Amino acid sequence: MRYYDNVVELIGNTPLVRLRNVTEGISATVLAKVEYLNPGGSVKDRIALRMIDEAEKAGLLKPGGTIVEPTSGNTGVGLALVAQLRGYKCVFVCPDKVSEDKQNVLRAYGAEVVVCPTAVAPEDPRSYYNVSDRLAREIPGAWKPDQYSNQSNPLSHYEQTGPEIWEQTEGRITHFVAGVGTGGTISGIGRYLREASKGAVKIIGADPEGSVYSGGTGRPYLVEGVGEDFWPETYDRDICDGIIEVSDKESFLLTRRLAREEGLLVGGSCGMAVAAALKVARRADPDDVIVVLLPDGGRGYLSKIFNDAWMTRYGFLSSHQDGATVADVL
Ligand code: PMP
Repeated sequence: MRYYDNVVELIGNTPLVRLRNVTEGISATVLAKVEYLNPGGSVKDRIALRMIDEAEKAGLLKPGGTIVEPTSGNTGVGLALVAQLRGYKCVFVCPDKVSEDKQNVLRAYGAEVVVCPTAVAPEDPRSYYNVSDRLAREIPGAWKPDQYSNQSNPLSHYEQTGPEIWEQTEGRITHFVAGVGTGGTISGIGRYLREASKGAVKIIGADPEGSVYSGGTGRPYLVEGVGEDFWPETYDRDICDGIIEVSDKESFLLTRRLAREEGLLVGGSCGMAVAAALKVARRADPDDVIVVLLPDGGRGYLSKIFNDAWMTRYGFLSSHQDGATVADVL
C-alpha cells in the first residue's frame, strides 16, 4: 500500500507549472511554484513545521503546550495542522483586515482566534503584535513562534524550497520572484539560489505600494500577507537585487486573470508576485527562466478579490459587468 502516515508528511515538494496565457508576448519561460498544494493550502506549512520541530528540540514547547502567534491566517493553518498531530493548543491573533473566511478556517482547525485593529501603530497596546506578546506571557505553557524573528522561517526555505526549485529547473533558473511579508521566503530561497548559482540568479522582491520594502511609509493597502510597516529580522536586507512595487489594483486584476486564464485560483499576493514577474520577464532574454512563488490559494478571497461588487467599490473595476477593465490595466 502507498500512503502517507499523516498530513504533515504532505508538506513541501510542490510542483512548478508554466504560465501560458498571462505571459502573452513574452518569450522567456515563466514558471509558478504552486504553494497552495501544501496540505494547509499555503507556503506557510513549511515554516510552521520547521519552527515547531526546533521549539521541541530546544525545550520551548512541551507536551500540552499552547502556540500563540500573530498571523494573517496561513501560518496559523500550518501551525494548527502540526499542533493537532502533536497535541498542542493554538491561539492566533489576526489584524481585522484579514477576511472572515480566513479566520473561520483557523477556527475550523480547532484554533482560537483573537481579532485586533489594523489601523493602529505596531507599538500600540491594541496592535496584533502586542496582544500576542501579552497572551504568550499570560497563558501557562505558551510558546510564541514569532515568524518575524524566528530563523527557522528563512532556514526552512534555504534547506527545502530553494533546493526544490534548483533541482526542478535543473539549475537553469535565472530569476526568482516572490512577495515579501516576513521576508522568510525570499531570504531563504534567495540565499540558496544565489549560492547554488554562484551569484547568477537574480532575486526580485514584489511589494505592495505603501510598504517599507519599496520605500513606502507604511500607508494601508489591501493585498494580504505581504508588505510591512517595519523591518523584520527574518528579512535579509541584502538579498534582493531589485524590488518591484505593485498596486492593489494591478495585483487583484492579475489574480483574477490567473484564475480565468491559467486555472490557478490563488490569493492576491500571487497576483502581486506574478505582476512583478511579468515585468521582469518583459525585459528578460528568451532563454531566461523566471520562477515566481505563489504563496496561497484563492478560496479565502472569494468575497473580496473575486467579488465584482467589492472590486468595484474600491475602484478596481469600473462597473459590475465590465470585464474589459482587466485588459485595460495590463
Ligand atoms: N503571501 C501570503 C498570502 C502570505 O500569507 C505571506 C506570509 N506573510 C506571504 C505572501 C509572504 O511570505 P513571507 O512571510 O515568507 O515573506
